[in-house]
Amino acid sequence: MKRTINKLILVAASLSFTLFPSGVFAENISTSKIKSIQNKRVKVQEEAQKAKNEMDQLKEQQKLLLNSLDTIYSSIENATIKMSQKEAEIVNGKKELGELEAEREEYQKRLDQRQVIINNRLITIQKSGGNLDVLFDAKSIGDLLQRINAIGKFMNTDQDIVKEQQNDLEKVELKKKDILLTQNKLQNDKKDLQNLKRTLVNQETQLKAILSKLKDDVNEKEQDILSLEEQEKLLKEQEKAIKAASSISGGDFTRPAEGYLSSGFGYRSFDHETHFGVDIVRTGSTPIVSVANGVVIRAYHSSSYGNVVFITHNINGKVFTSVYAHMQNYQVSTGQTVSKGQKIGTMGNTGHSFGQHLHFELHDGQWNQAKSNAVNPAKFINF
Ligand SMILES: [Zn+2]
Repeated sequence: MKRTINKLILVAASLSFTLFPSGVFAENISTSKIKSIQNKRVKVQEEAQKAKNEMDQLKEQQKLLLNSLDTIYSSIENATIKMSQKEAEIVNGKKELGELEAEREEYQKRLDQRQVIINNRLITIQKSGGNLDVLFDAKSIGDLLQRINAIGKFMNTDQDIVKEQQNDLEKVELKKKDILLTQNKLQNDKKDLQNLKRTLVNQETQLKAILSKLKDDVNEKEQDILSLEEQEKLLKEQEKAIKAASSISGGDFTRPAEGYLSSGFGYRSFDHETHFGVDIVRTGSTPIVSVANGVVIRAYHSSSYGNVVFITHNINGKVFTSVYAHMQNYQVSTGQTVSKGQKIGTMGNTGHSFGQHLHFELHDGQWNQAKSNAVNPAKFINF
């Protein structure tokens, strides 16, 4: 797209020359020829305007898509949080069910024991000839009545206890039923959320595909050449920082920012140049964090990189350098020790940058002018 516009501008310029020729040739140009040239010129200008409009539209489209992508990201985040909440509730429910089951078993055991007591009593009564012996042994009518009463009381008390125990058992079983219903609902909610998440991830994939198609049309070259003075300062500060960082050891890397990877590492077909880092795009206020423990080599404003931070890391005795460019602001200073995940600034559009994004570089070793140590960050960090 950019090349087309350049071509159109060149054609327009050459036409202007022929439109105002000098000297003798002027008389040789007929009015109709001038008119035809003028027409052509207008046409070229129209086409250039059309191309510019198309470009603006593409940029607008890209912005909208990125906004949608942001919405999808936060929806996925939301669904994930809700899912883990449901999962926690399910686990709680399972625990409660286990406790209720233990309670139920305890009630059942007591009921069974009571049953054994009653059975034994009945057997004793039957053995004694249907409780009559007990009664025949009565020494008086009063004694007999007392004995009949006693048997009756035994039976009544048994019945009350059994009734109470059965009530307890039923209560526990009802509670269990309630929780099982809730568990079912939770499982269904979880399934719905899983489906929602799947749909969102599909949408994300589709959007990313559309975005990467758009990318080549819209992207403009990001300038990442540092002035000689900047390079010298950087090399000097780097030495100091590496010494300071040698005592800070770090494990692995974390990603420098949330967002969409709009441009990968390596050769770029649209500008035929090598991209020594990756570009991460996200709208809104997006924190930039240090990818590992380290020491800030330099934090300053560069005309090409904008607000930029260089950090040296000691990863298991090995030097790595990370670069964060085009930030809105930076909140660390040269020589400062930073830890993995610590906020160092906010994503921005400063320096030679087109649209808010983070240009991130990772160097396996020290930073050098040729950027010969630059590696694909995707090899070390999951984007
Ligand atoms: Zn970049």
